[in-house]
Amino acid sequence: MIAKVIVDIPASNVNKTFDYLIPKTLEASAQPGMRVAVPFGPRKLQGFILSITKDATVSKLKRLQELLDPVPVLTSELLSLGQWLSEETLCFLITAFQAMIPSALKATYKKEFALSQEQHLSSLPSQVMRWFNHRTHIPYDEIVTTEPELLPVFQKLVTAGTLEVIYKMNDKVTKKKIKVVYPNQSVGALQTLLAALPPQALKQKEVLHYVMNEREGVVQSDLLTMFDASRSTVTALEKKGAVVVIDQELYRDPFAGREFKKTTPLTLTAQQEESMRPMVAAVEEERHETFLLHGVTGSGKTEVYLQTIEAVLQKGKEAIVLVPEISLTPQMVLRFKGRFGSRVAVMHSGLSAGEKYDEWRKIQRKEVSVVVGARSAVFAPFENLGLIIIDEEHESSYKQEENPRYHARDVAIHRGLMNHCPVILGSATPSLETYARAQKGVYTLCELLERVNSRELPAVEIVDMREELRNGNRSMFSEDLFAKLQDRLQKGEQSVLFLNRRGYSSFILCRDCGYVGECPHCDISLTYHKKHHTLRCHYCGYAEEMPTNCPSCESSYIRFFGTGTQKVEEELAKLLPEARVIRMDVDTTSRKGSHEKLLSQFGEGKADILLGTQMIAKGLDFPKVTLVGVLAADTMLHLPDFRASEKTFQLLTQVSGRAGRHELEGEVVIQSYTVGHYSIELASKHDYHTFYKEEMAVRQSHRYPPYYYLTLLSFSHPDVLKVVDASEKCAGYLRERLSERTLILGPVVSPIARIKDRYRYQVMIKYKNEPALSRIIQELLQHFQPLMDKEGLHISVDMNAQQMM
Ligand code: ADP
Ligand code: ZN
Ligand code: ZN
Repeated sequence: MIAKVIVDIPASNVNKTFDYLIPKTLEASAQPGMRVAVPFGPRKLQGFILSITKDATVSKLKRLQELLDPVPVLTSELLSLGQWLSEETLCFLITAFQAMIPSALKATYKKEFALSQEQHLSSLPSQVMRWFNHRTHIPYDEIVTTEPELLPVFQKLVTAGTLEVIYKMNDKVTKKKIKVVYPNQSVGALQTLLAALPPQALKQKEVLHYVMNEREGVVQSDLLTMFDASRSTVTALEKKGAVVVIDQELYRDPFAGREFKKTTPLTLTAQQEESMRPMVAAVEEERHETFLLHGVTGSGKTEVYLQTIEAVLQKGKEAIVLVPEISLTPQMVLRFKGRFGSRVAVMHSGLSAGEKYDEWRKIQRKEVSVVVGARSAVFAPFENLGLIIIDEEHESSYKQEENPRYHARDVAIHRGLMNHCPVILGSATPSLETYARAQKGVYTLCELLERVNSRELPAVEIVDMREELRNGNRSMFSEDLFAKLQDRLQKGEQSVLFLNRRGYSSFILCRDCGYVGECPHCDISLTYHKKHHTLRCHYCGYAEEMPTNCPSCESSYIRFFGTGTQKVEEELAKLLPEARVIRMDVDTTSRKGSHEKLLSQFGEGKADILLGTQMIAKGLDFPKVTLVGVLAADTMLHLPDFRASEKTFQLLTQVSGRAGRHELEGEVVIQSYTVGHYSIELASKHDYHTFYKEEMAVRQSHRYPPYYYLTLLSFSHPDVLKVVDASEKCAGYLRERLSERTLILGPVVSPIARIKDRYRYQVMIKYKNEPALSRIIQELLQHFQPLMDKEGLHISVDMNAQQMM
């Protein structure tokens, strides 16, 4: 029997299956979807079995070395989904499969140098020979860290054949195991055995007496502590056949020891009922249909999800719920855990690789029926899928911006089709693409236009910050916002202050000559970090000391600019010293669990003001929050991105939705420097439908999605002339082959012109109908492959570009 294996090298020349002979001993257990170890050239690599065939003609094949899994990690559905993904996004097959499994299952490789066969140590130069004292294998990493200048010498010896490079594969899987003691006979038989134990075997008697009735088993270490016994006691009982000790996998449960208050379904409002009916019907009839649940913030979308999932579970099926990473807050998780308890697995980036793997295994072993997770949870290995929900479907984090460049929405709908199950896209501010499809009837539109219990949406006021400045207010708080903050403080109510992280963060600027600190490797300004008093590049990690004088003109008037959350915090401390402030941004939430801790402190009323970035815009639901302030609404409007208005509208709507969700009425103050922009105006009126119409007109006239599709080709090379030349050739290649109506823009410099010393250019393809596009780009990549191999040119393709950065 032969296994067709795809190996762990993402490169075009190995983007196909290789045949391996399955050794007789493994024939019975090998199955498609398993990870295997196979020899590949001088290396041993990890791979996936895609299929198994019978073929007697090949005898010279290499043998498969090892099966790495007792059961397949990729289901047959995922195997075909991987093929589809690789065709849709033009990624390598191995890249598609790697995206579907937890990172703990990905192999790591270690390189080692060893003397080639029939070579002698004496042929090595002395400084290399030294390394081989007492050892035959020298880890590559050791040389890199201790004597990097020697690396070229090693490399020459490899080229000359004196040394060879050996690849060692490590499986990262770590399963936590514990020993559990089980009774090994019936209670009656054990009672007899117990009575027969000699009187001096006191510990054995005690232990057996206890274990006898514990059919579920007892953790050995607990047992030993309980009776102050030693391991030999258990061993003695084991020898008598009274008990067995089994090594059992222990799940690292990130929610261990937490109580979840059980919740029961609420009586739905008429609107909720009406929205849910067709969804449940599709679940019942096992029929694919995509729904758009457009509901204002607080309209009870989550309750609709919960009750639809209920219907799925009653059919014995499974559900995937995707939520954006930043709204995977404990509050959100609690709502699902509270309703479905231990039937829910949770997957988000805050978990360690081991925890993620454990959650994933619960799905694989059918121990749970619901997964709530971020983007990659769309690949959950359920085999009886009954529903997929994408909450906040407009969120840009559903698009992966590295290979495979997939959008979770597309994957969800494809899985929905394959599994004959409905997909629900939910949002208060649907993406234009999705709403347009709902308008056309491609998706079924369900709208919840009122908040539950007819609570009012909060009143929103827009403040013109230029006006404030003209009136002499140089603070970052308008008079109005400040007065309202004071008022809340007096009344003991809570406020949320929101600052957009994107846009201009705190860069440094010389007030005399206008010098701005920039990264020497990437064309982007450096960000000031107060804690270490350094300037850092967010793209490559470059860091330097904050200069005391301007590097360009020596002036001492060099200072950081823009308002970071730290600066706001400082100003609050000056202006409202009595206010207790919790700050939430990347800096204060980098440690594991800190995000959750800060939120629960705020929830317990331990602070008056929650100050933060994007991460506080979603999913928060605190009854005492009656004021939301947006410090600068327009920072995102000026990004070189055709979705800038849409994102501004969505964000403002989300943030405003945090206020007045319960009995107390809410108020929102939006500070802006571009008053009058339709996205800000319409967000303040909670008017999605008008925004949709205006923005659609803009998109149509500029030929952007949803009227046109966008495919983006990015090129990079250390030499600017080479990258210009290559991108021009590619644009020419495309112009010759694509249809007249298709627009090919560029090559132009990318919005970030250089990253890590590589110059970047891009070509954008705007098209309405281009059925052969995938094939043509594939041919282009093949055509330019020699340039990539020999010259180090990078070409990356995004078949469905969401942004232009
Ligand atoms: P959304 O997800 O649309 O923002 P939520 O599901 O968070 O809205 O609902 C807002 C609030 O209304 C929550 O506190 C929720 O418990 C409550 N709620 C939802 N549906 C009902 C209902 N049918 N009856 C009473 N309260 C409800
Ligand atoms: Zn940099
Ligand atoms: Zn200067």
